[in-house]
Amino acid sequence: MSRIAFVNGQYCDYSDALIHVDDRGYQFADGVYEVFTIIDSCIIDFQPHLKRLFRSLSELKIVTPIKKSAYLYHIRNIIKKNMIVTGTVYLQVTRGVAKRDFKYPKDIKSSITIIGKVISEDTFYKDIYNGINVKTTKDLRWKRCDIKSLNLLPPVLAKQHAYENNSKEAWLIDDAGFITEGSSSTAWILDKNDVLRTSSLKNNILPGITRETFLKGLCKYKIKFKETSFNIKDIRSAKEAFITSATTFVTPVNMVDNIKIGNGKPGKFAPIFLDIYKKAIKSKI
Ligand code: PMP
Repeated sequence: MSRIAFVNGQYCDYSDALIHVDDRGYQFADGVYEVFTIIDSCIIDFQPHLKRLFRSLSELKIVTPIKKSAYLYHIRNIIKKNMIVTGTVYLQVTRGVAKRDFKYPKDIKSSITIIGKVISEDTFYKDIYNGINVKTTKDLRWKRCDIKSLNLLPPVLAKQHAYENNSKEAWLIDDAGFITEGSSSTAWILDKNDVLRTSSLKNNILPGITRETFLKGLCKYKIKFKETSFNIKDIRSAKEAFITSATTFVTPVNMVDNIKIGNGKPGKFAPIFLDIYKKAIKSKI
């Protein structure tokens, strides 16, 4: 089956999905993106992802290339045309094409690309059930990590470093020694006092949609939660650890560097938290 992409108003075969060499996304990482998870051919939490996309666009003063109401239509088309049951849809908007110059013309027309990926259900859930290892590394990112921009070189290097060290995710450490978040996920621990902890929402982390949905679900339970970051010492004494993201749901962490979390296997809260998250997903459209 051929893969179909949406590029600037046209549906086309992957081999014909070409971007201009002067696209500012390509030259300056001047753009934003979202990743939507697809389960049973439905989009998980579409509205909050769209809302975050529009916030990212607005923070960078990029004008949407299509009407807000058209996003759902095109994403659904990509799901249908690529026959995605379980998978992801990647959507990117860049400032557009202009002669290479740091400053950009006022009338520039933004570019949009939407691509889909089929993932087998087994592959999607493998790490979610078995857990992953995490490697810590320095947080080298810019000061506006709350914007989901294409400026991804530090997380690329961090994730590569993690993979080369037998780990699926990198946890980023700030100058004060605290974990900000993962290279592409939110970081959590259940600390020694049974308090679930993750960083508070400031400009140094991305406001995760999975984080938001999970926390909505969590407030119905008697689990203590504190929006406060943690360091290596806290990880050493943590009972459990997790990452959350659209593509990993709530995935348990078995090891951080050479520190075993609990007995090095997903703990008793792992399936409970996953269930809380899944039940809290209201919008499957
Ligand atoms: N932090 C970073 C840096 C990310 O790239 C992601 C993935 N988008 C997340 C957190 C988790 O966000 P979400 O739950 O919206 O996927």
